[in-house]
Amino acid sequence: LFRESLVPFAPADLHYGLRSEFMADKCLEKVNLVIGAYRDDRGQPWVLPTVAQAIQLYHDDALQNQEYLPIAGEQSFCKAAAHLLLGCEDSDMQNRKFSFQTISGTGAVHLGAVFLSKFLAVPKPLVYLSDPTWDNHVPVFTHAGLSVKHYQYYSTETRLLNFEGMIQDLQDAPRGSIIVLQASAHNPTGVDPSQSQWEQIAETMKSSGHFAFFDCAYQGFATGDLMQDSFAVRHFFQQGIEMFIAQSFSKNLGLYGQRTGCLHYVANPGSEASSTVQRVASQLSSLQRSEISTPPLYGAKIASLVLNDKTLSKDWLGDLATMSERIAKMRAELQGRLEELGTPGNWRHITTQIGMFAYTGLNESEVELLRTKWHVYMLPSGRMSVAGLNSRNVSYVADAIHDVVG
Ligand code: PMP
Repeated sequence: LFRESLVPFAPADLHYGLRSEFMADKCLEKVNLVIGAYRDDRGQPWVLPTVAQAIQLYHDDALQNQEYLPIAGEQSFCKAAAHLLLGCEDSDMQNRKFSFQTISGTGAVHLGAVFLSKFLAVPKPLVYLSDPTWDNHVPVFTHAGLSVKHYQYYSTETRLLNFEGMIQDLQDAPRGSIIVLQASAHNPTGVDPSQSQWEQIAETMKSSGHFAFFDCAYQGFATGDLMQDSFAVRHFFQQGIEMFIAQSFSKNLGLYGQRTGCLHYVANPGSEASSTVQRVASQLSSLQRSEISTPPLYGAKIASLVLNDKTLSKDWLGDLATMSERIAKMRAELQGRLEELGTPGNWRHITTQIGMFAYTGLNESEVELLRTKWHVYMLPSGRMSVAGLNSRNVSYVADAIHDVVG
């Protein structure tokens, strides 16, 4: 049935391909700067101490069982997750919001995309993604049957946000377009709009009647402050902009493999809001049922314990600070070492960019040489996961960069 003309090989996944190559690499000095997952200063995966406590509490609770969750997931988790983003209680949301537990951030983007593809009026509006964006955005939206286009975002010349270009493209997009925005710690560039730029983006979105599709995978990773990192989402909510928000707890709770996330739908304010939310929720429910029936239990229970417990949620802020401060320290050390070596070019962007990634500006052949000669792995775009640096390998990585650039 599946002859090659019908089922050709799919292109290999870049991240997982490099991961396999890294695992097979026998060099003792090898450094993995590909994977977007936090590592401690020994280069090891880190179970957040507050998450470890929540796991203990969960296992100590004799009343826990392994039953199915409701279709929309664990509501104590969804409510706390929405509160974390929007900064207000359900009662203050004027019936404008409904939250669904999903298969982490990817599943949230997927569920939102499938919904849009099914219910947008024909001809379906385009989905606008930042240039560049997370590698998986294009496949997720196109797989759902939507067409994508890019809006200007990053200037390779200034290594800063191309704000004028972005606003121009949002203004030029046909009315009612779907605009995907990363809420904080932009992947892959580490470059976010300022608060006043977010305000201007919101104004443009409103005047153009666009639909905002926020992707929030790094709350707490940009500034270390949860509220500051969700400023854009809260501002759009206060401005009454209709939106989806895909929310991931992979990074900020370190629950990568537990696939813990939410999709929130927020309606325009007004007398119709409540019935729109109910209709949208009923269709999301129906899509969720056909795709995964109900979402997974464990990660949502653990996240709910952390988010709803006063002590644990306070201690969690300390864990976030541990992660964001170690990453900031590695940025400073890498930049400092490159400057000490006199490596050609300007390396200030390593510390002005924020979040988990540095968009180094290294070109594809430099990145390839880093891998083949120095066993230092990063994405061909020059994106480096700064979390992969530690006090033992940062000088080695700087020496390697110095060599391939020099
Ligand atoms: N959006 C962005 C921008 C991301 O970087 C990621 C993780 N790499 C995700 C969504 C989804 O992550 P997950 O499915 O692990 O929650």
